[in-house]
Amino acid sequence: MFKKDTCLNLIILLFCFIFMNGCKTTEILSDIDKGLGKVANTLASEDKVTGRMGLNFTNDNQKFKSGLNTMNRIIKSETSKGFKILSKGNKKYDRAKIIYDKILTVSHYGLNTSLKFVVIDKKIFNAFATGGGHIALYTGLIDELNDDELALVIAHELAHNSLSHVSEQSTLRLIDLVSQQNLDRSYYTVFTNVNEQEADRIGILYSALAGFDPYAGYNLWKKKASLNPRQFAYYRSHPLGYERSLQNLKTAKLVEKYYTKGIINPSYSYYRECNSLYCKKNTNKLTDGSGGGLLKVLEIIADVTKKASEVMIEYNKQKYQQQMYNNYYQPKISNTVNVRLPDGRIMSVKRGTRVRLPDGRIITVQ
Ligand SMILES: [Zn+2]
Repeated sequence: MFKKDTCLNLIILLFCFIFMNGCKTTEILSDIDKGLGKVANTLASEDKVTGRMGLNFTNDNQKFKSGLNTMNRIIKSETSKGFKILSKGNKKYDRAKIIYDKILTVSHYGLNTSLKFVVIDKKIFNAFATGGGHIALYTGLIDELNDDELALVIAHELAHNSLSHVSEQSTLRLIDLVSQQNLDRSYYTVFTNVNEQEADRIGILYSALAGFDPYAGYNLWKKKASLNPRQFAYYRSHPLGYERSLQNLKTAKLVEKYYTKGIINPSYSYYRECNSLYCKKNTNKLTDGSGGGLLKVLEIIADVTKKASEVMIEYNKQKYQQQMYNNYYQPKISNTVNVRLPDGRIMSVKRGTRVRLPDGRIITVQ
């Protein structure tokens, strides 16, 4: 439903940009390709993980700054409510920071010390990424998890950043605005679910490379699912606990070979680029003007199509699960209703029956 519309809007957008930026002014093939490259650079940025162009209107510097602004706003809001931001010397902070440093080393950010790592003293089970590499954890989560599980959460949040999920969502909303066609609300939610699965996969890889148990996610989500079996909501932004656990198990099996307990894999910089989950595109790229521009545009289209197809699969899966849930678990609506008569007696009446009320009105029992 939305897949076709989204793709069409994006292709229209691409062509609008193409004609505005290059095609009109020159007929030379090389210039057209340069124009395409310019268009591609406006619409997309290179994915840190796969090396391919993905639809995204912001570059790394903008992502860093906007992520930092968001993080500072959240810090301000939390401190104004009386919650403390922990720092070096605090036991909880120090424990999380040691794990964070190991994960950061093997991540696509490397040892980037300018990134914000925030620990908020609040008893909730939550963590988040604001884009550009910045992440925050709540002490409620730190207290509940063992080191391997905590490593997985930190790695998951860093993966959201490496995969540019925050700016990707904003880009999608901008397209929605430009095309003046409101995308289905459930699209965003399902899209978020697909991003969650992607962040889990890359997060498990980071964990394994940093010397943390890649099966921690499998165990954690299995435990969470058993504690809260009723977690169904129509159009879910996160995978269901048991489902997430099985997806994590599948990834863990694929990356287990890179893991040695407590030891950072000495070849992490190689495996970060090429491993059993993906292999980063060859860096011998064509330059803009000699085929590189066209290649970038094709990569953007491929990226959009791939994402749209993943979202469609997830959307249909959730719809099917909802139907199954409705068929098997929803209470059946009774076809009779209990009605109190004027003399106080209770009588069972079939829905649809017309009855006269004491004041003379006639109504149909719903
Ligand atoms: Zn997430």
